[in-house]
Amino acid sequence: MASERQRTVPGLLQALHRAQQHFGSPLSPAALEALHKEWGLPVGEIAATASFYHFFQAPAACHHLYFIDHVTDHHAGIAALVARFARQCGLSPGMTSADGTYAVGWTSCAGLSDQAPAALVDGRPLPHLTETKIDQIAQWVRAGIPPENWPQEWFAVANDVYVRGPLLEWADSATSTAVLSHPRAATPESILAEVEAAGLRGRGGAGFPTATKWRYCRNAPGERRYLIANADEGEPGTFKDRYLLTRHPDRLFDGMTLAALAIGAHEAILYLRAEYGYLKPKLEQILAERRAAGLLESERWPVKITLSLGAGAYVCGEESALIESLEGKPGRPRVRPPFPVTHGYLGKPTVVNNVETLVAVAAIIANGASWWRSQGSAQTSGPKLFCISGDVARPGIYEFPSGTPLGTVIAAAQPVGAPLAVQVSGPSGTLLPVTDATSARLLAFEDLPCNGTIMLFNETRDPVAIVAHFARFFAHESCGFCTPCRVGTQLIARTFRKIEEGLATRFDLERLAPALEAMRLASNCGFGLSAGNPVRDLVAHFRASLEERLQPHDFVPAFSLDAELAATRALTQRDDPHAHLAQFEQPEA
Ligand code: SF4
Repeated sequence: MASERQRTVPGLLQALHRAQQHFGSPLSPAALEALHKEWGLPVGEIAATASFYHFFQAPAACHHLYFIDHVTDHHAGIAALVARFARQCGLSPGMTSADGTYAVGWTSCAGLSDQAPAALVDGRPLPHLTETKIDQIAQWVRAGIPPENWPQEWFAVANDVYVRGPLLEWADSATSTAVLSHPRAATPESILAEVEAAGLRGRGGAGFPTATKWRYCRNAPGERRYLIANADEGEPGTFKDRYLLTRHPDRLFDGMTLAALAIGAHEAILYLRAEYGYLKPKLEQILAERRAAGLLESERWPVKITLSLGAGAYVCGEESALIESLEGKPGRPRVRPPFPVTHGYLGKPTVVNNVETLVAVAAIIANGASWWRSQGSAQTSGPKLFCISGDVARPGIYEFPSGTPLGTVIAAAQPVGAPLAVQVSGPSGTLLPVTDATSARLLAFEDLPCNGTIMLFNETRDPVAIVAHFARFFAHESCGFCTPCRVGTQLIARTFRKIEEGLATRFDLERLAPALEAMRLASNCGFGLSAGNPVRDLVAHFRASLEERLQPHDFVPAFSLDAELAATRALTQRDDPHAHLAQFEQPEA
């Protein structure tokens, strides 16, 4: 396994960020040499770690403008805006201005699906792009005007909440002292017992019982333990952690403090995705205020919380990959067992909890397990946050009890156009047609599990194009460690490219089936296990849309000899009619 060859160097990722700020990007030999001197690591090893992360690959330029390559941004017209931008300033994604002032590129969903179409400029979100804004931006880019001189209100990220419930109402009015001083927070066992009684399950998608995870960690041998808050919210379409980090950071830090106390950890780390790096100064200020107020690193609340910034790798949302990343390595998921609860960060027992889970912990301690259980379904207790985007009039945050019917959640967001399909739990979740039957499905682990992400698509959208987009995303983000996922995601992406080009046949579709099965059965982590889900659901629910794209032959080669030779034939002015191969036999009439 590659990570075993790589040394554990906590802090290396943050040093790479600092080096990038100081020396510019991509990391130059001078930057690597400086890091080598500082960390005593071989230059090749530092470069290998850096090369794993998207944002350490940024081209040399003073400023970086990344357009968001996410399905809702495409539905909102990002491709036309990018083309308009390119016409006006001569820069398309992948290009850098002649004077090196601006580099332009694409990046995956940045937690801004409710504000599509959007971009990132030097890591800062630029939501709600319009033609007027694009024209102005093109002028500034052409003139080399830095983003600091653009209207700063353009960078404001709205966090619209359309349905509030007991969780958000509590979060709005709670205080840290009240939460942490509550009698239920008196001892590690009282915290753990309350969370156990509440039946809290992880809100990140897998739904593992939180108290069980904590107990495994707490009972594992060893003196040191760690608590990690997973704010690497990379599942396309998801932005509820962005909302919580922006509006309720103190509730998150309350939850982190309580969780750390419950498992016996004195150190906790908030792993923040790079796309949320703009929130880091504010979060650090809040941590400083909490330290000053005695809520951290004090005799009563001894937990120390630090922040660590990711660098653009979707797979780091997987808990063991996240731990690898914190240890200064490429963020590849580990082979398990052993599990992080016994052998996690620095080899010590570690709990990784999602941001919403930790906010829920604080809510449970403040309000009690029975309050939590009074909402939700039999197997999925408590209120749940949903982030809804796509073809809806009100994209944003919604709170409903777990177990609410899918149709209720969709209706609240006010669909635009006739709903055709809904993607539940992001691309690795479930794609469903919108029907009376699916609308009645309950958003709970006993029926339709949901991490809170819902993307709605109306009848003007093409399910095949949506799945093709997801396929490209998975192929790009696979860490490449294990063969079923590495090969399978590429095969799916290539097959869908063929389908979109009108070159695919039934044979191509059939060839995917064993690959999907291999991914489902033999992938090393949840990424590979679920990356085939969109294809599975497309075939199950939208087969007609798929089949109408297929050629009525058994096999069509993706390679056209005639097309490849056309330029040469034109240049040499030699075109022997007998040297043409039929691309494929036409079926008999
Ligand atoms: Fe990497 Fe995919 Fe294997 Fe997970 S399943 S370890 S992402 S190659």
